[in-house]
Amino acid sequence: MSEQMPDIPFKSSILPKLLEEDTRIRFRCHTAISCFNACCRRADVTLAPYDVVRLKQRLGMTSTDFLAKHTVPFEMDADGLMGIKLKTDDQGACLLLDGDKGCGVYTDRPTVCRYYPLGLLALHPKGAAEDQQHYSMVVEAHCKGHEEDRELTIGEYRAEQGVLEYDEVNREWYQLLLKKRSAGPTVGRPPLASLQLFFLACYDVDRFRRFVLSENFKGTYALDAEVYAALEQDDVALLRFGFRLLRQVLFGERTIDERPQAWEKRAQERAPVWEARLEAEKRHWQEQQEARMREETTGKSGDA
Ligand code: SF4
Ligand code: SF4
Repeated sequence: MSEQMPDIPFKSSILPKLLEEDTRIRFRCHTAISCFNACCRRADVTLAPYDVVRLKQRLGMTSTDFLAKHTVPFEMDADGLMGIKLKTDDQGACLLLDGDKGCGVYTDRPTVCRYYPLGLLALHPKGAAEDQQHYSMVVEAHCKGHEEDRELTIGEYRAEQGVLEYDEVNREWYQLLLKKRSAGPTVGRPPLASLQLFFLACYDVDRFRRFVLSENFKGTYALDAEVYAALEQDDVALLRFGFRLLRQVLFGERTIDERPQAWEKRAQERAPVWEARLEAEKRHWQEQQEARMREETTGKSGDA
């Protein structure tokens, strides 16, 4: 699975051959195949938000413990938007592999593992009204599934591998990433607090739940009691809400009602902190100016 990272959304400048839902492929993977588990012994698995929910439920852990024990973070873009990958051992084998028995979490395996050997490419071509989903095929020497005598369409393969539910929940996340990428420098580098919120809402859902149910949050956003009840119990409802909140925070799309004067109240409460930060910035700037002037003066007297 080393070269098999599906690009979500697609970011390389070299577009691979795009395959569609009705493209026929030749592939079959089964427990009796000679390369069984070869892909999991060289795993490079990027996780999407719904993967985390399924895996932490499967392993009976909180998202916080799951992230600490099973994932490593990486920067998805130059603005510091974080992604996560499954941890591997020193040889590159997935830690969720259960010896020769195969995947230890098979019915809850991540999207990337379900798609393999296909890659999912989420694209938003210029001028297109909607995002598009295409696929690419990865052929690696160690994977003998391509030599098996079975043909089926990509649509049939996706259904067989159970990715439909995963794609449905993760779709808004893919759209969020595409929008961030297509907006480019116009939205600039998000502040640190927004980057932290992105990580919390997309991956650390149990901590995100505590944040959403806090008095501070309730004082800012006006949500119905039923919505809070759903967010308290349902991880998927919480993920979907998180994607909406991120669109509001990152792109200013107002779909969640804020309480009247909530911003003013928060500004009043935070005023001493913000003023202290501003003062620190000013001091830093002044010190830099003074240092520059000293350097110029020394340089000039040196020239003379
Ligand atoms: S999660 Fe399962 S299928 Fe995916 S790489 Fe790990 S062991 Fe293999
Ligand atoms: S056929 Fe490919 S996907 Fe299946 S076990 Fe072998 S390497 Fe992995």
